[in-house]
Parts: sequence; structure tokens; C-alpha cells
Amino acid sequence: MIRRGCRPPGGQGRCPRARLQWPAESREQGVRLFERPGVPLSFTDQLFPEAVVPVLVPLPSGRPYSYTVPEGMDVRPGSIVQVPLGPRQVAGVVWDGPTDKVDAKKLRPITHVFDCPPLGETMRRFVDWVAEYTLSPPGLVVRMALRAPAAFDPESWIEGIEATGEEPDRITSARRRVIAAAEDAPFWSKSGLARAAGVSASVVDGLIRQGVFRTVRFPPPPAVAEPDTAYGRATLSEDQALAAGDLVEAVRAAAFRPILLEGATGSGKTEVYFEAVAAALDAGRQVLILLPEIALTQSFIDRFHARFGAPPAEWHSDVPPKKREAIWRQVAEGRVKIVAGARSSLFLPFKDLGLIVVDEEHDPAYKQEDRTFYHARDMAVVRASLGGLPVVLASATPSIESRVNAETGRYGHVRLKARHGDAALPELSLVDMRRHPPARGRFVSPVLQTEIRKALARGEQALLFLNRRGYAPLTLCRVCGHRFQCHNCSTWLVDHRLRGILQCHHCGFSTPRPEACPECGTLDHLVACGPGVERIAEEIVEEFSEARTIVLSSDIAGGPRRLRRELEAVADGEADIVIGTQLVAKGHHFPKMTLVGAIDADLGLANGDPRAAERTFQLLHQVTGRAGRTGLASRGLIQTFQPQHPVMQALVAGDPESFYESEIDERRRSALPPFGRLAAIIVSADSRKDAEAHAREIRAAAPEMPEIEMLGPAEAPLAVVRGRHRFRLLVEASRRAPIQAYIRDTLARAPRPRGSVQLQIDMDPQSFL
Ligand code: ADP
Ligand code: ZN
Repeated sequence: MIRRGCRPPGGQGRCPRARLQWPAESREQGVRLFERPGVPLSFTDQLFPEAVVPVLVPLPSGRPYSYTVPEGMDVRPGSIVQVPLGPRQVAGVVWDGPTDKVDAKKLRPITHVFDCPPLGETMRRFVDWVAEYTLSPPGLVVRMALRAPAAFDPESWIEGIEATGEEPDRITSARRRVIAAAEDAPFWSKSGLARAAGVSASVVDGLIRQGVFRTVRFPPPPAVAEPDTAYGRATLSEDQALAAGDLVEAVRAAAFRPILLEGATGSGKTEVYFEAVAAALDAGRQVLILLPEIALTQSFIDRFHARFGAPPAEWHSDVPPKKREAIWRQVAEGRVKIVAGARSSLFLPFKDLGLIVVDEEHDPAYKQEDRTFYHARDMAVVRASLGGLPVVLASATPSIESRVNAETGRYGHVRLKARHGDAALPELSLVDMRRHPPARGRFVSPVLQTEIRKALARGEQALLFLNRRGYAPLTLCRVCGHRFQCHNCSTWLVDHRLRGILQCHHCGFSTPRPEACPECGTLDHLVACGPGVERIAEEIVEEFSEARTIVLSSDIAGGPRRLRRELEAVADGEADIVIGTQLVAKGHHFPKMTLVGAIDADLGLANGDPRAAERTFQLLHQVTGRAGRTGLASRGLIQTFQPQHPVMQALVAGDPESFYESEIDERRRSALPPFGRLAAIIVSADSRKDAEAHAREIRAAAPEMPEIEMLGPAEAPLAVVRGRHRFRLLVEASRRAPIQAYIRDTLARAPRPRGSVQLQIDMDPQSFL
């Protein structure tokens, strides 16, 4: 029986009497409820002794709402339920902790409990933690865990038939064919068997009536086949085996342990962490592998398949809805053992997670920068800590944060010294663009051209890297100087010549590329300024007309699927020269690639953000690391106007250690992350005046606190996006200072945003635009 109205005085917290005296009774009730058909015994958790429970709904609400539990309904913390919200019904999660005091007459009952494994304790604490840390409403965080609403209802079972071994009363040739065909498989659908035997369904029906076949029901098929950990085990080198041993030990210990797995591109990090994956699977537990650009990493899926005899379940925005639902449900039930996914897969409701791997842990794509701002690598470590499991962060160029954590002993540090087998790292050199300038209006220096020619002559591949989509980043009128700017943003429109448009990369606005200047009306005097990948391709095709050239960027017609196919084709040697953006820098394995040229290596150094040097180092190291992975001698050429820059010097010296040392020193001196903490508050509004005024009010409301300072407001470098004017405030704090409390306090003192004003809080910002 569920008692109503048992509330402590003041309505806060759980009834103390309930806590002391109810367990026996609720256990009893639990048993009764568990025995109800359809509720598996494994969904354990204590029942609510109260009749009012908190329910977290996937809306920007700051806290769970209170609902009553109708007589006889079985809910517990984590139950996924349907509740009325205004005129609508929404799915939510029964939360734990106290409920708000609400007038009993206003309380509404839960309408439905889904027949679905409840969200576990770890997951609920994870949602709370992420919300608290990122200063996001918990409702928006839980929404990320409820991304497959149709999966809350059980998948339907499949009906089929199987042979009973009985003989029919009279055998006909049609019946004989059915019985013979049925021997090919243990189960059949009625129509499938009829088709296989070439008879009408009525023949099969007749045999069912006679008891030769019986109807059976099967559980829904698995979303992916079970991995086989013994399937394609590699023979590890001594170095690799030692590293794998450390990871496997951590998996067996089944306790929280973050480990940085560092090793050159091609040293076998993937091969090594696959051993840890195998160990976790052998222990019957689930594994999550995070990848920065899962939609593109067909090669990873293929490798996994080759190692484990089955592909992992994929989780990213490109997975079709039906498949997503099956995966979500089967992850919750523990049937899907391994997920490879984008950052959002951190919020999947694993039943028994035993290991998380974050591949390319330094990759900026792990930072989500809309709605809830979070860093998936950091949150992976949090999730591992809450769940008591190891987390492996793998990279050839770790983030400064992870390196510092490894050096201070907070993380384990497992290293692979060299590339696997005969493969040597490419020989890197700088091309001083002041001394070897390209022809006028061109971007590839003669030095790089010569190397491309040599690679082609050897029948090998070259990759030209430029982190700029489209044809040119700016178009202007040679007569009046007019520059094409976005109507909604303070950005130049990018010339996408293949598609014949000028496009804004921030809001997506686009307009056909005009022939006349809209300002002065002069025809045919518009000029493209600066290069994008399409323009490099134009130059290359002119120069190397006999070579097969391909451009790879996210603009490719046909989207991610097409891109996957093209990457595979490149790996199979079907192109000679590849021109690509950072998409090609990540994790791909191109066996015949022996030359990488970075067209504009200085590009990332120009924006004055604290990670500019680190990012440039990582990107150039990764992209040149695409060369020479199979033992062929290889080269990386870096075109720069700043050959003396420490990043360029560290790259060619092949001395990442000195780069890390000086970069870490620099961060320590200026108290930047990870030695200090940063948070950004971005204020936006329809007018510049409103945005600035509100930002100033926030600054004025900031309390005095030791070791925390608020800077700004300053107009954002991207001053207008989608018609919204933006101002930024930056909070700088020491590691110890309570930065979240400070911001919460500041915002509580400041006036609430009015009119069109909106706030975004970006904890540990990666972008300062
Ligand atoms: P990383 O992840 O460090 O870039 P990979 O695991 O991708 O390195 O390994 C690079 C290449 O070397 C891959 O083609 C991989 O199959 C191969 N390789 C690495 N270790 C071994 C091994 N022990 N046996 C066979 N091939 C290996
Ligand atoms: Zn725009």
C-alpha cells in the first residue's frame, strides 16, 4: 500500500519516519510488484515510500517537479514515466532527493510507467554532476539521456514457427517440400517458409493445424552481433604488450582509473586498447569507445570488425531512428556490449559499463557548444569516476590538460615509443614562404610542387591540407572595394564555387554568386581573396592534369556517407592527390600516402586564443602523421611565414617533449588551464545596446571573492551571429576557487535577462569567438 501525505514538517526532505520504518514494508511490496508479469526481477532499487515523487522532465527546468503516484503504480528512482505538463504529456525520469512543497490540490498523477529498465544510480548522479558543473538545467542534461523516446516501450517480439517433429496425417508433394525446406533453419516466418518451399501459405497453415509446426515467439533480434574477443587477436610487440598489460590490469581491477595512452601516430594505440576492450567484454561488461568524428570513421568500424568479428553499435546523429531505438533499448538491457560513438553516447543508459575509451582525446570536436556546453572527454572521466571504472584517453598529441594530469600522477601514463613495425615517422621540414613564394595568385610553393611530382612518379599519394572549406574566404569588388558580408553575422561570405554560392559558415545563409557588384554595379570585377580547398584543387589540377585529384571536406555532395566511401577509396589508392580540411587529419590510415603538405600552417596561430599553439601543434602533427604508416619513406612539408615560431620549430625538431615542456610552463606562468580555470558568459540580444547593457549589469553584480576575477564585457570577436549581437565576459579563477558558485551567485544578483537577452555559460571554454 502506498501512504499518502506522509510529509515531514516544512515539506522538505523525506519523512524521517519513512526512512526508519518503511523498508520492510516496501520490500514486501517490492516482491509483490516484481512478481507482476512483465517486470523483470533485475530492475531493483528501493521503492518510494512516499506517494509524491520528484520527476525530472526534459525541459530547461532547474529542478524536478512533483507528481503523485497513483495507487498500485510501481515507481522507483530512475523509472521512466509519462507525466502531464500543462496540456501535454511528456516523458521524464523519477528522480531522487526531496520534492518541493506543492499544494496537494495542484499535484497531478504520473500517467504511465514505461516497461523499461530504470536509469541507474550512476547515470542519475552523472546527470546531476554534469548539470552542476556546466551550470545547465538538469532537465536539459537528462534530455540527452532520453534521446530515443520510442525505445521506452519494449521492442516487439517476432512471431514464427518451428518444426515439432510430428508427422502429417497424409503427405503431399507440397507438404514434403515444406518439411524439407524447414530443415535449413530452426525458425521460420510462415510466409518465409511458404516462399522457400514454393507453396501457398495455406499449405503451411494446414501443417500447423496438424501439429507439424508450432507457433513460437522470439525476442527482437540483436542490434549488432556479439563481439568475439578471440576472433582476430593481433600479435603485439613487446612494447605494445606491456602497455596492453597495464590497461588490462586496470579493467580487471574494475575501479576508477584514468589512463593516458600516449604514442606516435601508427604506434598501435588502437591495437593496444582493443586488448582492454577484450578484457572488459570477457568480464561480461559493456564498453564505450568515443570517437571525435564517428560519422566518418568507417576505417575504425572495419578494424573493429576485423578484430572482434562483428562491428560495434554506432551512436551518432547519422544513425537512422529505428536503429537508434534498438541500440538505446539494448544498451539499457545490457544486450549491446559495445558502442562506438560521438560525444552524445556518454549519455546512453549502459546497464553495466566496464570501460570507456576516448580516442584522439585532444580533439576539439569533443567540446559541445550548443545548449549544454560540455567537454565529452572530461565528462567521460567523470562518468568513469562515478561508475568506478577505468577510462583510457588515447592520443599521439595529448591535450595539455591530460599531459599535466599524467605528469602529476593524477592519471596513469602508458606510452608507446615508436611506430609499429618498419614504419618510421615522416621526415618533416618547413617551407619558408618568404624565400620560396608561389607564383602570383598561387598557394603551393615550388618546393612542395617538386615533392608532389616525385611522389606521383613513385606511384604514391600526396595529401594537401588546408583547414578552409570552399574556394575563398572573402570576395571583394576590385572597383569599389565592396566586401561580401553575411546579413545576419559579422563574417565574410565564403565563396563556394562548385555550388555557385557565397555562404556564411556561421548561420548557413547563402546567396548565388553574383556577376555584378551589388554596390557599384560593375560586371566581372569580383575577386576571390585567399585560398580554400577548392581553390587549391583548381591550382593542382592545372599543374598536375594527369593526376587523379579529390577534394574532401564536409561540403562534399552526398554528406557523411559519401565522405566515408571517398575516404575508403583513397585508402584503396583510388586517388593520387587528396586536398582536404581537418577531416582528413583524423585517424585515417592511407597505406600509399607518403607526402603531406600543410598549405597554410600559420592559419590557426592567428586567432589569439590560449590554445592556439597547442591546437596548431596537434593538427599539424596529426595531419603529417597520415604519411608513411606502412613503412614507405615519407615526408611532411609545412608551408609557413613564421619558420621561427616555437610551434614550427618543435614540429620539425621531432621533439614533442620540448613543446609540451615549454607550453606547460607558459600555461603555469599565466595561470591558464589546467593551472587555473576559465568560464565564459556570453550575452546576446537583438540589439548591440541591450547585449552590452546586460553584460555590464552582470559584471556589476559580480561579488568580490579571492582568487576569482571577472573580466569584460568585451564585444565578441564574432560580434553578430544569426542577427544576435554578442558580448563576452570571462571568469578567471584559481583551481581551488568555487567558480560555479561564483557564477551562480553573480547571476542571482544580476537582473534576470529581459526581452531578447539570452545567456550562455561556457565552462572551460575552448573557443573564444
Ligand atoms: P595508432 O592508433 O597509434 O595510430 P594503430 O593501432 O592504428 O596506431 O596502428 C597503426 C597500423 O599498424 C595499423 O595498420 C595496425 O593494424 C598496425 N599494427 C599496429 N600494431 C600491430 C601489431 N601488433 N600487429 C600487426 N599490425 C599492427
Ligand atoms: Zn551568417
